[in-house]
This record gives sequence, C-alpha cells and structure tokens, in this order.
Amino acid sequence: MKTYQIDSNGYYGEFGGAYIPEILYKTVETLKENYLPIIESEEFKKEYHALLRDYVGRPSPLYYASRMSAKYGCKLYLKREDLNHTGAHKINNSIGQILLAKRMGKTRIIAETGAGQHGVATATVCALMNMPCRVYMGALDVERQAVNVERMRMLGAEVMPVYSGNKTLKDATNEAIRDWCCNPSDTFYIIGSTVGPHPYPDMVARLQSVISAEIKEQLQEKEGRDYPDYLMACVGGGSNAAGTIYHYIDDERVKIVLGEAGGMGIETPQTAASMEIGTPGILHGSRIMVMQTPDGQIIEPYSISAGLDYPGTGPIHCNLYKTGRAQVMAVNDNEALQAAFELTRLEGIIPALESSHALAMLPKMKFKKDDVVVLTVSGRGDKDLTTYLKHKDEIDYEAI
Ligand SMILES: *Cc1c(COP(=O)(O)O)cnc(C)c1O
Repeated sequence: MKTYQIDSNGYYGEFGGAYIPEILYKTVETLKENYLPIIESEEFKKEYHALLRDYVGRPSPLYYASRMSAKYGCKLYLKREDLNHTGAHKINNSIGQILLAKRMGKTRIIAETGAGQHGVATATVCALMNMPCRVYMGALDVERQAVNVERMRMLGAEVMPVYSGNKTLKDATNEAIRDWCCNPSDTFYIIGSTVGPHPYPDMVARLQSVISAEIKEQLQEKEGRDYPDYLMACVGGGSNAAGTIYHYIDDERVKIVLGEAGGMGIETPQTAASMEIGTPGILHGSRIMVMQTPDGQIIEPYSISAGLDYPGTGPIHCNLYKTGRAQVMAVNDNEALQAAFELTRLEGIIPALESSHALAMLPKMKFKKDDVVVLTVSGRGDKDLTTYLKHKDEIDYEAI
C-alpha cells in the first residue's frame, strides 16, 4: 500500500534523511536506535499519558463552532490545543522528549524557539523534571515575544538571544545545533517541530499524534464516524499539522489543507511560504523545501508570526505537498489578522497568530454544508496581543 509515513531509511519520498556533521553522528545514531523502543514501551506510555492528562489537561476539547459553521457553510470543529497548559501544542512534544532524554541518561536540555511557545514548553518540563535548560531565540523574536521570554526566565531557563541572520527561528536553530555539536554526550536537544535530522520529524510527529488519536474518538462520539472530510492546520515546521493528520495521513477520504505563512505575499520578498516558493535543499539536517537562491544561500524569511517565520518546512509536509496529498495555501499577514479578530468576535476565542493562518484559509474554501471540517487551533493569542492591538484599525469589522 502507498504510504505517506516515513520509510525505513528515514525519508518521506525525496525529503528527510539525516545530514549531520560527523561529530553528531553517534548521538543521532543512538537516538535513532532508541526512540521507538522507548516511546513504544508500556512504561513510557504510562508516564507520558498520565502527564498529558493530569498536567497538560488532555484530551483537548473538540469544539463545534456554530457561528463559524454558519458563516462558512460546513460543520466546523476546532481542536483546542490553545487550552493546553502553557498555551499551545508544543508541550505534547516537550513532555515526550524530556521523558526520552531522562531514559537516555542525558543531564542537560537545549532548545530553539521562535514565538517562544516551544521555549516555554521546554522550560516548563525542565522545571518539572529538574533539568538545566538553555533556550536559543532570535533577538528579533526576543523583542516581539517578550512575555514568553519572561516566562522562560521565571521557569529557570537561560534564554540566549541570537544576533545572526535576521535574528529569528532559523538563526536560533543554527546556534542550538552549534551548542549540541559542542556537548553531544550529556545534552539532549529538544527540537520543537517536525524538522531536523531523522529521527526528529518522525519522533515529533508521533509525540504530537495524540491530537489525531483524540480527534478520532471525539468525532466518533459527535458525528458517528471517526473521520472528517477536511483537516486544516497551519504549518511552520509542521508539528501541529503532523499531529492533526497523523492517523489519517493514508486515509484518502480525508482531505488535508495546510496554511503556510505568505507574509506580505508570495510575489514579494517578504514571505515564508517555503513549500510554494522553495526548492529542495538541505537545512538543519534534513532535505526539505527551502527558500534559497540558485546557488544555495538561504533567503531570509518573513512573517508577522514568529512561529511560522522559518525558511523551510518539515519533510513530511514537503512530501504531502509534492505528491498532491495535501493542498497548501499561502496566507498573508493581513488575512491572518482578519481571521484572528473574526474568531475572537464570533466564538470568543483569541487564537495565536500562527493558528490564525489556519483560520484564514476558511474563506478560500468551498465546502458542502454537511462537510465535517476539523481545524486545529494550535495555540492561544495571549502572546500576540500587542501585535493584534497594533493592527486593530486595519480590520474590516463589517465583514465579520
Ligand atoms: C510553534 C507554533 C506553530 C508552528 O509550529 P508547527 O511545528 O508548524 O506546529 C504553530 N502554532 C503555534 C501556536 C505555535 O506555537
């Protein structure tokens, strides 16, 4: 059977793999040998699921959004990852990886972060497990996500601003990899998305797959069938989308629609729509679609949303895009802002700017009125209030 899951060499079609410096070879190899036996062990699952339930607050609700459904002519359900402890889906992955790190005898944690959600999630689990934590964050993101920086510091993490490149997520990831290269034996690098060398994309997708496992049960209960007609999510590196689609990826009854960050528009240089304008290349250890010049220099990405401001997309999604399994749409800053205010005014839910990119695809869709649509609200908007209020006069309130 045709599958969109990982193959035995760590690839999704032509994407993925592990392109790493020699010094990390042993570390990555050890992880590759150990991640599945550990995360599939009963003992791991017990601790992981207990924490997801009692600490994170899972299962996250699958909420029928009636006013949005009426507006878009479908049955729209929102998967409420915004209600998780720390405010986004990132915690599902951080908990899983720190449990893995402990079992592999690691004593120090590093992470990269864009919007700060992964940094906060990782700082949180490090406090919980009493592990030292260093988070690399682009200096621009330190500025635009100030509240999350304060949260990480209060949690006891060391936040390292990164001044290279355009001072965002890619640059933070470079620095984290540099640190990892210097400390491969005692340090576990908790990557926050389905990016990086194999086995990270698969590992992160599995740790986030609790999202689609819950959707199956919740749809069965609410709709009498365990699959939707559409799954929709935003894509930065791809982890919330990977979790949303994991158990449906080979089920062609389910259409997959992914929103990447268009920034000021894919026809402008200010964009982060790496699947649409990128070409295959190697970034952060994996063969993916990368925004690059013909001679392989990374083009600096741009998005209003720090969590999507990355010049690549994980290999899972690149393959879904390339094979046509998923429909990918670029969503511009202004469309995301409008969608954020719309959800806020129609349903009383202030979404993260990243999640607003998923919501902003709704007006571009043509649904039938019985279509069951599940859209993942990956995080809450508290961290984005300054940005939202700065743009409040650009919103078309009549259109809501
Ligand atoms: C980090 C983040 C994203 C983007 O990351 P993915 O790995 O693509 O999910 C999306 N939404 C929120 C709220 C985030 O914090």
